[in-house]
Amino acid sequence: MDTIAAIATPRAVGGLSIIRVSGESAVNVARKVFMPVSGEVMELKSHTAVYGNIFDSEEKIDDGMLTIFFAPNSYTGENVAEISCHGGIYVTERVLRACLNAGARLAGAGEFTKRALLNGKLSLTQAESVIDIINSHSKQYLTCSLAQREGALFRKTEEISSIILDITVQIAAWIDYPDESLDSFETSSFLGQLADCRTKLQLLLESFEVGRIMREGVLTAIVGKPNAGKSTLMNQLTKSNRSIVTDIAGTTRDIIEESVNIGEIILRLCDCAGLRDTEDLERTVREVEEIGINNMLNRLEQCELALAVFDNSRPLEKEDYTLIEKLKGKTVICVINKADLENRLDLTYLATQFGSVVEITAKDEASFEPLTSVICKTLQLGRVDMSAGFIANERQRECAAIAESALERAIDGILAGYALDMLGVTLESALESLYELSGKSVSETVIDEVFRRFCVGK
Ligand code: GDP
Repeated sequence: MDTIAAIATPRAVGGLSIIRVSGESAVNVARKVFMPVSGEVMELKSHTAVYGNIFDSEEKIDDGMLTIFFAPNSYTGENVAEISCHGGIYVTERVLRACLNAGARLAGAGEFTKRALLNGKLSLTQAESVIDIINSHSKQYLTCSLAQREGALFRKTEEISSIILDITVQIAAWIDYPDESLDSFETSSFLGQLADCRTKLQLLLESFEVGRIMREGVLTAIVGKPNAGKSTLMNQLTKSNRSIVTDIAGTTRDIIEESVNIGEIILRLCDCAGLRDTEDLERTVREVEEIGINNMLNRLEQCELALAVFDNSRPLEKEDYTLIEKLKGKTVICVINKADLENRLDLTYLATQFGSVVEITAKDEASFEPLTSVICKTLQLGRVDMSAGFIANERQRECAAIAESALERAIDGILAGYALDMLGVTLESALESLYELSGKSVSETVIDEVFRRFCVGK
């Protein structure tokens, strides 16, 4: 394979930049652009670094470090040279150009990781996890992505496919050599194992949604009538003062959005305009107010979680009942705010309307502990063990879904007494999808699609 080069660090000003070169002549390319202060590049041992000067054909460009890795003990499995120079955009691009002039070709998106895959350094799902590690915004998602990088999903898929393969082989043997097989070949004896594989796949499919929540966060609307304490809650959660807090009803008219980490979950919070009757308001104010309320109702449609805030110190009013009506069918946590004030709110009624109810004093952050655990419980994030492998993207999800429905057909087929060859074909199609999922058997087009999501230099 030819030798490729790219800038591995972001195209921005920083302390250092790294230009990565991989391929058979990587060390030769490095020799042409890098001169160590002592010794020769060609004499360097694998996994060693040396300080020196970087040149192009015209002049010295910079000074920096060169690190050498020899095949197969490198990220790509090929010879790799990494030159680190000062982190200016111009200087970095000149070092890259020098490497290209010295015989390397500019790498495409994800090409280093693609080579790692082709050289057997990573499985496809491990390669895909690299992009997840880069995109992790929370400790929990990073931990899961690292487990995936260690091969968690690959192992889980292998575990399922090896059971299905075993059954498929037995069926094929019986079809081909019925005389030599056991007389009483009972397909029902496979039911338990197939049902078990199906459950494992169903859990993996569930992990896709949990992973998406961990990665992208949960679109969360904070709703409630004016003065319930929505902005105070938002500010406490975001530890900022982005929402204007006043005791004048209707202060928050536009939607304010911010991401916060609650425990290990990212909530994409929006504090919406308070819901209230606009009929009595002066006309222009009313129009603006109505836009805000309509925005809130639209947002309520889109949101995946609503924190419905009720004021503990006021009895339920018309707006509260309207809100309760609008929240029907949504994932909602009923937040009783102002727990420090005397109770005038009908808590018993609210408990009948919402599955999760939690009391807080929005002014006091210390009272938020139960809210955090109720959020985790309501979103059911603990239902799957993500560190045992999870479905991280649409490609993987589709393969797992096809395999799962093939297993469902196989199980139904056994129960309905279908012919053995039909069962064999169905199980083979489940296997095919699982092999595509793990990357054991996957087309060039799929591989190209996977690496298109990567950045150049990775
Ligand atoms: P919003 O209209 O729902 O956004 O309500 P705000 O967050 O602007 O709060 C309305 C008023 O209630 C403000 O004066 C807040 O200081 C007050 N408030 C908010 N939370 C609490 C609380 O937990 N206890 C008490 N006593 N007052 C609160």
